[in-house]
Amino acid sequence: MTDYSSLIREIFSENGLDGLLNSSNVEKFNMLIDRMLTVNEKMNLTAITDGEDVILKHIADSATVVKYIPKNAKMLDVGTGGGFPSLPVAILRPDVSVYALDSTAKKLNYIEETAKILSLDNIKTVCGRAEVFGKSVNYRERFDIVTARAVASLNILTELCLPFVKLGGTFISMKGSSANEEITAARSGVIQLGGTKFEDIEFTLHYNDKVMQRHLVISKKAKNTPDSFPRIYSRIAKKPL
Ligand code: SAH
Repeated sequence: MTDYSSLIREIFSENGLDGLLNSSNVEKFNMLIDRMLTVNEKMNLTAITDGEDVILKHIADSATVVKYIPKNAKMLDVGTGGGFPSLPVAILRPDVSVYALDSTAKKLNYIEETAKILSLDNIKTVCGRAEVFGKSVNYRERFDIVTARAVASLNILTELCLPFVKLGGTFISMKGSSANEEITAARSGVIQLGGTKFEDIEFTLHYNDKVMQRHLVISKKAKNTPDSFPRIYSRIAKKPL
């Protein structure tokens, strides 16, 4: 198994994230990279197939949300796919209870097996559609933090995610360079769904000649989401708020 420890530390350090690392979580990231690169040969988890890219574009990127998560929070990751940001958050923050939601069981099985191998006991998987779980009493307005990365455009995502956020809690959408236009398209919807006006935190993730423009688009839950939301998916997609 390739040892990525020094590369992980270097990339985190370049991006001001090194304060999050210790020998135990670096070891877990090493195991995660090894597992991703192995499993990816059989199952299409990610288009990214080299260690450096996995660290920068998946692990360090996921780590950028960590400072917005309060101690002992209950977090839901909507459309978690291969476990981003849910797996890195679970690794970096043993105090946080992470729920990883996706409609594809195969990806969730991978996450469960990975959690076992890495001895993570703070991540659970939830299989189903976000717009269906958003109506369930056990999930609706039950989470301190709801994240989503690379799932849908912000106007759709807001209706999928805000119903899960409890009053005073936070929705964090992880976006790339399209964030500004997406914010414009989603800004009336977020208010209808009970959120505050979006706050946009813009930064770059970089290593050597690689530079990525990233945005954390944040809304706090100020009011309960009206019962009529989320609508069925075809409505959400056809007529975004
Ligand atoms: N967040 C991951 C995966 C992105 S791929 C990452 O950043 O790498 C998007 C994932 O969202 C897919 O796995 C897809 O199954 C899931 N997804 C899309 N819409 C969804 C919905 N309405 N409910 C649940 N999962 C959804």
